[in-house]
Amino acid sequence: MANFVELSTKAKMPIVGLGTWQSPPGKVKEAVKVAIDAGYRHFDCAYVYKNENEVGEAIHEKIQEKVVKREDLFVVSKLWSTFFARNLVKEAFQKTLKDLKLDYLDLYLIHFPQGLKVMEELVDEGLVKALGVSNFNHFQIERILNKPGLKYKPVMNQVECHPYLTQEKLIQYCHSNGIGVTAYSPLGSPERPWAKPEDPSLLEDPKIKEIAAKHNKTPAQVLIRFHIQRKVVVIPKTVTPARIVENFQVRLQLGVWEGSVE
Ligand code: NAP
Repeated sequence: MANFVELSTKAKMPIVGLGTWQSPPGKVKEAVKVAIDAGYRHFDCAYVYKNENEVGEAIHEKIQEKVVKREDLFVVSKLWSTFFARNLVKEAFQKTLKDLKLDYLDLYLIHFPQGLKVMEELVDEGLVKALGVSNFNHFQIERILNKPGLKYKPVMNQVECHPYLTQEKLIQYCHSNGIGVTAYSPLGSPERPWAKPEDPSLLEDPKIKEIAAKHNKTPAQVLIRFHIQRKVVVIPKTVTPARIVENFQVRLQLGVWEGSVE
């Protein structure tokens, strides 16, 4: 099994990336640097996370230090819903690009369901390599795919996915239409602001712990591996150096970089 998925554009997207939602300024820069040193090449960002500037500083420093080249990285960001008016799309995009200190993005997602049309110019101008969607259900994707004059098909749908929300049908629908799937909140997002004390915890789930103990892995590694085996890209978030390494080790155990998507 390879360590990346091939998108419909033929670009190779590393199957494990680092999530950055709620990664606080003051910590996220170091986290991204540690991640690059640990081998991460895919970073999941968003305007609304309010930390793209620090993520950008880390990436910039690592490129300056010649630890990585821009083309080795796969950087994703997302257009927030309040910037959807045609004149605001570019403004929001340029802020993201400037904060990340990049001259193009590998993938630009619509954070929540809206049309794709207004983002197509960014691809035409070479500022974005591919477009994708996030939080889209099957009907919303179908509506996009059936849009007359659609210029760039979405290459990715980023949705919440983990053993409590397996998204079986949506993944099957996306994959059979040449659309990759990225799983967000793969560890159950324990820090989500709307968590209730009585909510079940994926990381503490007895079944997950049992599988982890049986294979001598951690629960987080089991939860990450769950996606890799289904060819689903996965973006666990952590700012804790030991966890950054732990979460990536799943991927490393799958083999070398070179390989096919099979
Ligand atoms: P998550 O990755 O499921 O969980 C993150 C939490 O798990 C953090 O509290 C982290 O703590 C902890 N953690 C990480 N590794 C661990 C380990 N090995 N052992 C124990 N705990 C561990 O949650 P998420 O942030 O909601 O989702 C991941 C990423 O998906 C986000 O950061 C974001 O990039 C993306 N996302 C996208 C959307 C969307 O609408 N498109 C929505 C939600 C999330 P520490 O950081 O303190 O180590």
